[in-house]
Amino acid sequence: MNRSEAERRIEELTAAIRHHEYLYYVKNEPEISDAEFDQLMLELKRLEEQFPDLRRPDSPTQRVGGAPAPEFAKVPHQPPMYSLDNAFSEEDLRDFDRRVREGLGGEPVEYVCELKIDGLSISLRYEDGLFVQGATRGDGQTGEDVTENLRTIGSLPLRVEPAGRPVPPRLIVRGEAYMEKRVLEELNAALAEQGKPLLQNPRNAAAGGLRQKDPRKTRERRLDTFLYQVVDAEELGFTDHWSCLQQLEAWRFKVNPYRQLCRSIDEVLEWVESWRERRFELPYEIDGLVIKVNSLAQQRRLGFTSKFPRWAIAYKFPAEERETTVLGISLDVGRTGVVTPTADLAPVRIAGTTVKRATLHNEDYIREKDIRIGDTVVIRKAGEIIPEVVRVVLEKRPADAVPWQFPKTCPACGGELVRLEGEAATRCTNSLCPAQQYRAILHFASRDAMNIEGLGEALVQALLDKGLIADAADLYRLHERREELLGLERMGEKSVENLLAAIDATRQNPLHRLIFALGIRHVGERAARLLADHFGSMEAIEKASLDELLAIPGLGPKIAESVQAFFASPRSHQLLAKLRAAGVNMVGERKTGPAEGPLAGMTVVVTGTLSRWGRKEIEELIRQLGGKAAGSVSKKTSFVLAGESPGSKLAKAQELGIPVLTEEEFYNRYVQE
Ligand code: AMP
Ligand code: ZN
Repeated sequence: MNRSEAERRIEELTAAIRHHEYLYYVKNEPEISDAEFDQLMLELKRLEEQFPDLRRPDSPTQRVGGAPAPEFAKVPHQPPMYSLDNAFSEEDLRDFDRRVREGLGGEPVEYVCELKIDGLSISLRYEDGLFVQGATRGDGQTGEDVTENLRTIGSLPLRVEPAGRPVPPRLIVRGEAYMEKRVLEELNAALAEQGKPLLQNPRNAAAGGLRQKDPRKTRERRLDTFLYQVVDAEELGFTDHWSCLQQLEAWRFKVNPYRQLCRSIDEVLEWVESWRERRFELPYEIDGLVIKVNSLAQQRRLGFTSKFPRWAIAYKFPAEERETTVLGISLDVGRTGVVTPTADLAPVRIAGTTVKRATLHNEDYIREKDIRIGDTVVIRKAGEIIPEVVRVVLEKRPADAVPWQFPKTCPACGGELVRLEGEAATRCTNSLCPAQQYRAILHFASRDAMNIEGLGEALVQALLDKGLIADAADLYRLHERREELLGLERMGEKSVENLLAAIDATRQNPLHRLIFALGIRHVGERAARLLADHFGSMEAIEKASLDELLAIPGLGPKIAESVQAFFASPRSHQLLAKLRAAGVNMVGERKTGPAEGPLAGMTVVVTGTLSRWGRKEIEELIRQLGGKAAGSVSKKTSFVLAGESPGSKLAKAQELGIPVLTEEEFYNRYVQE
C-alpha cells in the first residue's frame, strides 16, 4: 500500500472505529462483534506502525498510548468547578424554589432535573474539536491533569464533530467520571481471588482509577463518563441548560438519559418522588438528584453564594429504613477473643441490597435497645455504611419474647466468656480457641502485618481444618507439607509454589511488622513502630518491665499493660520461640534520641487523596522524614497535608488555625531536595 492509499485507509478506519466506539460505549448498541472491532483496530495499528507520521493525535489507537505520568500537572479551572448546596426534604426544595423566584422578582422559572452521579467531577477541554486536556476537580479552583487517563475511557470522544451546531474552537465540558456497580463487583471478585484488599465503593474506585500513574491501569478500571455542563454556554450562544444537554448528546458525549424539564416545583417534587425506589435499579450509584434553573440568563442573574450556585441544589435521599424480624443472634469470635453479637435478620431489601445481618456491637447495646429474638426491628442503611438496628417496634413484639442473655460459653470452643470491668466487650478467655486462632492467623498474614500474598480466608480455614497449621508460626513449616498442600482444593503446583515463596519472603520483614502481626491487644501499627524503634529487638521487648514500657513517649498505659500481659503468657513464649526457630527476623534498627530529618519534631495529619502516595505510603514517608503521622487534628498538629476531596480534618484545621499544605507544597518543601 502506498502512502496516499494508507492515508485514505487510516481516515476510513478512524471514522469507522470512532463510530463503533460511540455505538458501544455511549449508546450501548454495538453493531459489530468485539472480534470485528479488534480487527479494525489491528489494521489501523499496523498502518500507523508502517507510516508513523500519519498517526493522528485523535487516533483511537492512542487511548492507551500515553506514557505513565511521573506526576500530574496542575490545571486551573476558569470558571471554578462548583459544588452544590444540599436539600434533604420536600420543604428544603420548596425553600429553594422560593429563594429562586424571589431572586428573579417573581418571574416564572423552569427547572432541569438530573441524577447526581456518584463519581468524581472532570473537566474536558477541546480545541478545534480535538480533546487536548482533561482534569479532575481538585479543590474546584485547581485540578490535576489526567488527560492520558481520561483518554482511556471509551465513551469519551477524542474528537468532536459538528452536529446541528459547529464545534466552538475552544470548548470546555464538565461532568462526572464513574464506575458501574457491576464493574466494581467484577474487579473485587478478581482482587478477592488474589487475596488483595477490595475497592470500597464505586466512587473511590473511580477516583483511584483516574489517579493511576499508568494509563493502562486506568483502562483496567473500565470507567465511564456522563457530561452535564458546557462551560461559558451563554457566550457560545446557548440560552438554556436543557439545550446544552441536548447539544452535548448531539456532539456524541455520553449524557445521562434520565433528565426532566419541569415547569414548577410541584413537577420537580413528583420527579424526585419517582426516583425514591427506582434509584437502586440503576447500574451505577447516585448520591441524589440535582435540580438546576434552566434559563442561563436567570442562572447568571442569580449568581453564586461564596460556596454554591444559587440556581442549583442537590437533593439527598434520607437513609433508607425498613422493618424486619430478628431470627436469631449469633456470635463471632475475633482474634483477641472479643465476641461480637450479630442479628440474623429475615432478609430485607434496603438501599438496593439484601440485608440479612446487622451488628449488635456488644451486650450493652442489646440491653439498651432491648433487642430480643422474634422482635420486629427497624434497620437503617446509609450509603456504604453497615446496616444498623435503629429501634425495636414494641407493638409488634411477640408475647413470648424474652430478654436476650449473653451466653456464658464460647460458641467456638466452649471456653468461658468473661466481661472485664469497665469494658463493653465480652471475650473468650481460651487462647487455644480455634476461632481466635483463625482470626489471629488472618491478621498475621494481612497486608499491613506480615503481608503474605495469597493467604486469604478460605485457605487459612482449609489449613486449620486439615491440621496443617495450628498457629501462625506453623506457616513457616508448610514447605515440609507440600504433598498435603497439593491435595487442597484449588491448589496446583503453581499456587503452592507461590504461597510458599510468599511466606518465605516474610522472614525478612522489618521488626515492626512482626510486632503488629502478633495481634497484641491495643497494639496497632503505630505502637508497633514505637516498640520496634525503641527496643530494637523482640528480645528486648520481651524483657522490658512495665516501667520501661511506660517510659516510651507516645505509648499509653493501656498499651504498655497489654504488651506486658502478652509477653507474660506462656503461649506467647511458645509462639515466639517457634517463629525464632523458623528464622523470622526479630531485630530492627534501633533509633534513639530525637528523630532527624526535615520533619523532625513535627506532627502531620493527612486528609483526602494524594496523587503520589497512598495513605500507608505517605505515613511511612512522614516517618522517614523524621515526623509523626497523626490521625486527628489537634493544637499539637504542625500542619495538615490536604489532598483531593479532603474530609472534616481540613475544616478542623482551619478552625484551629493550623497551616494547611497542598500536596505540591508539601512535596516542594520537604520531599524534593
Ligand atoms: P457536592 O460534592 O455534594 O457538593 O456536589 C457537587 C458535585 O456533584 C459536583 O462537583 C459533581 O461532581 C457532582 N455531580 C454529579 N452529578 C451531577 C449533575 N448532574 N450536575 C451537577 N453536579 C453533579
Ligand atoms: Zn473460644
